[in-house]
Amino acid sequence: MRFNRLDNAALSELRSVVGERNVLTGRADLLCYSYDATKQESLPEAVVIITDSRQARELVLFCNRRLVPLYARGAGSNLSGGSFPSFGGIVADFSKMNRILSISPDDLVAVVEPGVITGDLQRKVAEFGLKYPPDPASADFSTIGGNIAECAGGLTGVKYGVTRDYVLSLEVVTGSGELVRLGRPTLKDVAGLDLTRLVVGSEGTLALVTQATLKLIPMPESEAVVRACYDSLEKLAAACGRIFARRIFPTTMEFMDRPSLDCVRDYRKTDIPLETDALLLVALDGSAAEMQSQAERVKEACLEGGAFDVRTALLPEDRERLWGARKAISPALYRIAPRKLNEDICVPRSKLPEMVRRIAARAGQFPTLKVINFGHIGDGNIHMNVQHEDTEEDYRLSHQFMASVMPDVVELGGTVSGEHGIGNRKVEFLPMELGPQVLELMRKVKKVFDPRGILNPGKLLPAGDTEIETANGGATRA
Ligand SMILES: Cc1cc2nc3c(=O)[nH]c(=O)nc-3n(C[C@H](O)[C@H](O)[C@H](O)COP(=O)(O)OP(=O)(O)OC[C@H]3O[C@@H](n4cnc5c(N)ncnc54)[C@H](O)[C@@H]3O)c2cc1C
Repeated sequence: MRFNRLDNAALSELRSVVGERNVLTGRADLLCYSYDATKQESLPEAVVIITDSRQARELVLFCNRRLVPLYARGAGSNLSGGSFPSFGGIVADFSKMNRILSISPDDLVAVVEPGVITGDLQRKVAEFGLKYPPDPASADFSTIGGNIAECAGGLTGVKYGVTRDYVLSLEVVTGSGELVRLGRPTLKDVAGLDLTRLVVGSEGTLALVTQATLKLIPMPESEAVVRACYDSLEKLAAACGRIFARRIFPTTMEFMDRPSLDCVRDYRKTDIPLETDALLLVALDGSAAEMQSQAERVKEACLEGGAFDVRTALLPEDRERLWGARKAISPALYRIAPRKLNEDICVPRSKLPEMVRRIAARAGQFPTLKVINFGHIGDGNIHMNVQHEDTEEDYRLSHQFMASVMPDVVELGGTVSGEHGIGNRKVEFLPMELGPQVLELMRKVKKVFDPRGILNPGKLLPAGDTEIETANGGATRA
């Protein structure tokens, strides 16, 4: 397949179709849209500011007519290469389509445009005593559209699930230019195939999301945090089972391994005992009356399993203090080296200690790399980070290490991506998890939604034998 460049005639058609002032072509503007949080770079030929769903549809039809690649973009914060324009073409910027259209406390739903910042929605619904539970750590800057396209997870997945669990209905423009509404704004809906869920997590490869109807829940009254130290990750992992066995359902269960604790210690003061090999953080929510007793029961479960220095906190400032080390880990990592490869593998919870053991064994074969694990133990979701220098050789080694771990993930029943998506970064790992038949089914689905392959080419699915030629001349097998 060969994409076309935007020549002068195409650019003037584009301007007339989407509105002159919505098209950016200046070099400075293009540079701002040339990368995402993976720090990969590729210059688009034009950026279109999306203003409404009809204009988004006109843009899709234009890209089909002209055979130009189209990359949807929210805040560009994805960690898998999802929104950078790897084959040039056009970036569709949804960040200005950012109105919260309605909040219904009776129906417990919100209707929003895709460019709404997730944290803004969380704060707005809180004014009504409501909660939008999906809570990626990027909530203060990532968008609902990006969260839907990546099916973003986050800290509260144990109890509240992920973005997919809160998307009731979507208005979308498919890759072939149909403007359609999927799903209903009801809690139950089994009418036909669940195309809403198919679009959630499709990484901008099937359709552009132009509106979303999201499920809300009543805001829990109160929260508590328990922090426990362990001398082994195995003991820590067993604590999760003990807590569930006491019929307690935490919102969050996070772990940090020894290298991540050391990393934080180099960055800021902590009160975590030096003999700690693994740190557990458990967050709870519910009625104010039950918080104290639930926290005590979690503490008992931790102590019973060999924890030491177990602390509980109910007041906001005390809870914040217990979260301190976990919240400091991301900036602390950059003290080690300027570049980071971050994988978000996910295994069945009971397999997490075995997975971390295997990661350590593989890391032993790459002695120059600094490997650090932390993440959502309640979901079995490990953030496996390799900090490396900004050199080709270091990147190559880090990638080689990551690739060596993936067969273990699959063997233990896990997935190569729990929440960050496949993008172009993990596309090579997909066949080992899905196998050829499932991949072929997915390719067929892609063809139905986007027959000319204009939406986010080079992402999510291996192209198989299809050779994609970039708008600026280079060719690649994605
Ligand atoms: C510090 C940090 C912390 C993070 N923490 C988490 C976390 O806890 N959990 C987690 O899951 N992720 C996390 N992320 C990753 C990232 O924030 C999420 O993937 C987020 O969902 C991306 O949203 P965005 O608005 O930045 O989208 P972008 O990065 O712009 O785009 C992401 C994908 O969505 C597509 N897209 C965007 N808008 C639309 C649209 N309107 N229609 C169709 N497709 C669209 C893009 O084409 C792309 O494929 C983190 C990232 C950072 C930098």
